[in-house]
Parts: sequence; structure tokens; C-alpha cells
Amino acid sequence: MLLLPGKSILYLWPVCARFLPLRPAYKIDSYFYYVMEKIVCHIKERSFIARLAARRMNSEQLAMVIGKTIHLHGVTRKEFLRHPWWVRHEVCHIMQYQELGLLPFLWRYLWECKKVGYYANRFEVAARAAEKNATITNRVIFS
Ligand SMILES: [Zn+2]
Repeated sequence: MLLLPGKSILYLWPVCARFLPLRPAYKIDSYFYYVMEKIVCHIKERSFIARLAARRMNSEQLAMVIGKTIHLHGVTRKEFLRHPWWVRHEVCHIMQYQELGLLPFLWRYLWECKKVGYYANRFEVAARAAEKNATITNRVIFS
């Protein structure tokens, strides 16, 4: 049987896993909460790193993600949050960090940029696709 990691399997996982003699219940439960956990994100306005990036990208407004923090330049938190597609794009990058870890993500992202450029970078392609995905922000809380 092929189980695709959809939402239903995440809900059913602790139920299924309880019947498998693989690990004690407390570990199954912590895995469940780990999977369903909310991600607390931060937004930093007038960020110095974002300003440097904006200068390099020749852009007046810029948002960039490092770890779980969205760094903004030329745009306020309020203005940024008014654009759902933009928020989804940056949240997608947060998810990419979550999946790979801080340094592996940065390394691969920069490597892709060097190899294929910013636009064709697979992390950017995925983030642009995520701009239409309204569910991507479900797990995210902005502090
Ligand atoms: Zn991006």
C-alpha cells in the first residue's frame, strides 16, 4: 500500500503507530506534535541584511528569509502582510529552511543561484508556485 503524506495520514499516524511495536507511546505522541506543530515566525522591518540584498538585487522593496525570520526592506510589516501571495512566497522559504536546516538550505540556495540564476533556482520556483497555495500559511503564526 502506498501512503502519500497528506493531512489525513498525519492525523492517523499516532493511531497507526500505536499498534506498531516500534517505539513507546510517549515518542509517538511527541512525533505527532512535532509534525502538527505551529511555526512561529518573526518579521523584521528595516533589516540591514534585507537592505544589502535589495541593493544587490536592484530592488526598492524586498523580503528575504533567514531561518524563521522574514527580513523586510522598503516595506512595513503591515504592507507586507496585506499581500497574501507575498506572504505565501516567504512562508514557503521558511518551510524550506525547516526541511533542510539553516546552513544546508543557505548552501544549496546559493549554489543553485550560482548555477542556474535566481529565477530558475528550484527554491524560487517552488516559492512562486506556493504563492497560489492558501493553505501554506495554516501552520504559521507571526509573532
Ligand atoms: Zn523567494
